[in-house]
Order: sequence, then structure tokens, then C-alpha cells
Amino acid sequence: MTSTIESGPLPDIDPAISRRAYELDRKHVFHSWSAQDLLDPMVISAAEGSHVWDGDGNKYLDFSSQLVNTNIGHQHPAVVSAIAAQATKLCTIAPSYANDARSEAARLIAERTPGELDKVFFTNGGADANEHAVRMARLHTRRHKVLSAYRSYHGGTQLAVNLTGDPRRWPSDNGSTGTVHFFPPYLYRSAFHATTQEEESQRALAHLEQLISMEGPSTIAALILESIPGTAGIYMPPPGYFEGVRELCTRFGIVLIADEVMAGFGRTGKWFAVEHFDVVPDLLTFAKGVNSGYVPLGGVAISPEIAATFGQRTYPGGLTYSGHPLATAAAVATINAMEDERIVQHAATLGETVIGPALSAFAERHRSVGDVRGVGVFWAIELVRNRESREPLAPYGGSSPEMNQLVAACKSRGLLPFANFNRIHVVPPCNTSVADTKAGLAILDEVLEIADGFAA
Ligand code: PLP
Repeated sequence: MTSTIESGPLPDIDPAISRRAYELDRKHVFHSWSAQDLLDPMVISAAEGSHVWDGDGNKYLDFSSQLVNTNIGHQHPAVVSAIAAQATKLCTIAPSYANDARSEAARLIAERTPGELDKVFFTNGGADANEHAVRMARLHTRRHKVLSAYRSYHGGTQLAVNLTGDPRRWPSDNGSTGTVHFFPPYLYRSAFHATTQEEESQRALAHLEQLISMEGPSTIAALILESIPGTAGIYMPPPGYFEGVRELCTRFGIVLIADEVMAGFGRTGKWFAVEHFDVVPDLLTFAKGVNSGYVPLGGVAISPEIAATFGQRTYPGGLTYSGHPLATAAAVATINAMEDERIVQHAATLGETVIGPALSAFAERHRSVGDVRGVGVFWAIELVRNRESREPLAPYGGSSPEMNQLVAACKSRGLLPFANFNRIHVVPPCNTSVADTKAGLAILDEVLEIADGFAA
């Protein structure tokens, strides 16, 4: 029997409105990261919790959390009514004024970030958070270079895309001097010929230390690292790695920026992924889960030392919408609801008791599964044509007809997956029910049988 998502109560969807949305989109909307003429976007007409409905009223379980941002699910009533209440009260105000929504959001974030990252600079999203973090680090250290990892994503703006360590950087790899990339640990495809996590950790740290000495420690302002890399493949830092990076940064006076844009706000079963490693960065960037993207918001949480640099000296940066009332009111409601409903703990439990065990079983049963890894509601299934050679089911930086077929097979069964290169990520909202999570995993199990047909 084929698994599909139960249709459930149908929201009021008018197919004529959906058709018009599609036609106008094709005529006027220019989409991100795409060849425009090749697109065929699904119309989403309604969403609730972990589900969305397309323009014809078909229901899907959202195992992507869109772009891994709806940590609290769609249309959470507390967040929706907080936005509505804030809209009635005050829609917008310039950043130079104090405002209760912004102040309260900053307090709630500062209380949850590790160590004493007690000041928050608000941005509109993740890329500009990383841009500002680097600017702060450069002005604080009076140095210029920034180190970042291959197999990373830090955003689509000019500096952020130059920091990025994936193929999205290549067409724009020209606008930013002083970004230097290093190999992060990734045992499954080790750049260091390591055979154990411990070896991988030590060798990746030795490589980083050597790179720092070759680049000149006194020239390096910052090192930016996703605490657990997301889109690049959710590869978990091996024991001691993050702590070792912290030690190198401290030893050489380099500002450590933890990019928690995707991994933060409950995704890994903790408020922030750095908590898995007992590391306090100097700057922590966030976006996405801070308010589940209901209104665009990002930011930088800042250490006392770096904040003090700009105590008497002007910070030369800002945004018209820094700390926008609608966005920060949504953040306040999101964080409070996550606390009240124990959503972060739920994400941890889903990882430990449902997703982790299911994915381990997939790795046993399906010859197309090369590796599975993750934590909380942040998991990757790496698909291969051959387990011995580890040849990926799609090349690095590309797709393949086989991967496209698997994505289509998920959708035809009512599951929206997150796919990248040769991987399918299991990244549902943090508050997805156990039953829905199991239903989604049952669909993936079937789709992996199709994948097995592509593997030797
Ligand atoms: N950093 C990480 C780790 C991300 O995953 C993303 C987006 O996916 C960004 C930064 C960029 O965030 P935004 O798209 O909000 O600019």
C-alpha cells in the first residue's frame, strides 16, 4: 500500500485564484537562484501547522519547513494574533527610537544566547546579519581577512555569498577581498583521509591552524562557521572540533562568529546549536526560526567586548527596518510560544526517539543510503549509487534525473521534501506531531525503495 497524507479538512481554496496567481507569477515574478523559463512553481493557497495546501486543494506534509525556517509551523495562532495586535498598535518606527516590541525581543534573545551575548543588533534576515557581524569584527580587531568553511552557506548578498562555501558563490566570487576558505570536518567524504571522528577532528584542526599561520594571524579579523552546517549537508562537528576552533580563535585574537541562522531557535533540540559543544562565540547570527519567518527578521548577538568597541565610537551601519515592530512582535510571540509549548524539548525528543532511529533503520535497509546524520529536527540522508565508491546520486553542485524523480515521488505522495544535490533533508517544523513525523518517514521509506533501484 502506498503511503499518502490524509486529506483532512479542506481550507476554502478557489482554484481560479490559484490559476491567476500562477499566471501572474510566470509573467511578472523573477525568482531566486533559478533559470526563470524553466520554473513551474507550486501555488500554495493555505497552510496550517506542519501542512500546506496547493492551488487545487491537495494537502502536503511540509518536511522542509519551507527554507528550514517555520520552526513553529505555519499560522501559529499566538504569532498571528501578535502580528495583528502590533499592526493595530504601531506598524513601523525608525530604529533610532526605542520600542516595546523590539526591546522585549532583544531581552528574550539575549536571555537564550550562550554566555554574555547580551546586546542584539537586528537585521532583515540572515545574510545581512552575517555582513554586519563581519563588519563589527573588522572594526573591533582592525584586521581584514575572514575565514569560512567550504560546504557552508552564509547568505546571498555580496560579502555573505563570498563567505559561502558552496557553488552558489562561484558566479559572484569577485566582490569581496580577504575571504579565505578552509576544509571543515566531514568524515564521510574526509579531506584528511581520516577513518574515525577523532582523527577527522584533530586533522581538520591541524589544517585550520596551518591555514591561519600561512594567512598571517595578525591579518585575520574573523572566522565564521555554521554551528551545525545546514544546507551544505547537516554534517555534525566531530568531538572536540568546535571547542578547538574556539581555542584557535582565542589564541590568535580572531573573532568567532557562529552562524545560527538555520541551526538556531530549536532546530537542533536546543535554543542554539553551539550549546551542543559548550562553546561561546564572540558573535552569534540568527534569522529564520527567531520568528519562523512570519515577518523578515535576523540579527547579531554581540559579546560585551565587541559591544564596548562601539560604546564611545559610532557603529557605522544600519537598516531602515532594524528591529521592525511587526517582526520583533512576531519574535516575542514565537519565543514565548516555543517556551510555553516546550517546542525545543519536543524537537530534541523527535530526533532521539523518532527520526534518528528511523533513519538508522533506513541506512540498514536501503542500499542507496550512504550516510545519515543529524540531531533534533535537523537531519540529512545522503544518497549514493554505490556504497563502496560512495558515488553521489547527484554531483556536487548539481541535480540528476534520479534525484528529481525522488522529489516528484515524495510530492505525489503528499510530502514536501528538502533536497540538495544528492541529499534529502528531514527538517519538519520543531512542533510536528509524532504521528505526522512517522507518516512522513513512512513516505520517505517508500521513496528510498525507488532510490535503491538506482544503486548498485
Ligand atoms: N546562514 C545560513 C546558515 C543560512 O542557512 C542562510 C539561509 O538559508 C543564511 C545565512 C542567509 O539567510 P537569509 O536568506 O535570511 O539572508
